[in-house]
Amino acid sequence: MLTKRTLLAGIAVGSATFAALRLRTTTAARADETFEVTHSDAEWRKLLTPVQYAVLRQADTERPFTSELLHETRRGIFGCAGCARDLFSSETKFDSGTGWPSFWTPLDHAVGTIADSSFGMTRTAVPCARCGGHLGHVFDDGPKPTGLRYCMNGVALTFKPAAVQTRNPA
Ligand SMILES: [Zn+2]
Repeated sequence: MLTKRTLLAGIAVGSATFAALRLRTTTAARADETFEVTHSDAEWRKLLTPVQYAVLRQADTERPFTSELLHETRRGIFGCAGCARDLFSSETKFDSGTGWPSFWTPLDHAVGTIADSSFGMTRTAVPCARCGGHLGHVFDDGPKPTGLRYCMNGVALTFKPAAVQTRNPA
C-alpha cells in the first residue's frame, strides 16, 4: 500500500533524478556516450582552433554576424568542423536574420538533439551525430516545410562547394 511517506520519498527521488538529468544535458558531449569519432580533451584542443573548441566541445556560441558561412550562397554541403561529417545541404539554408547560418532541416541521421536548460532557457541543443560536437540549437520558428530553424554556429561548420558543372561545347 502506498503511504504518504513512500510517496514523498518517491517524489524526492524523482526530483533528484530530474535535476541530475538537467545537469547532464547542459554539456555538449557527454562522457558516458560513445560516438564514432572520439578524442581526448587534449587531442580536441590540438585538432581544433580555440574558437572551434569553445563551440564544439564547450557549447559556446559565436558572436552573431561573424561567420563567413552566413553569406555562403553556393550549392554544396556544410559539414562538421570536428569530424567532417556531412550535416546540412545548401538547399535547406535560409536567411533567418539572426546572424547565424540557419537551415530548415539537417541531412538524414546527421545530428542529434539534447534538452538544454543552460542560461535559464529551455532550448534544444544540436550535436553532431558522429563526434558529439555542439553545433547550435534548433527552434520551432523556421520556414516551411518543416517549420524548424537549425541555428548553427558557423565556426562549427565547414563548407564544400558542389562540383562545378562544366558545359561541354556541343
Ligand atoms: Zn562531428
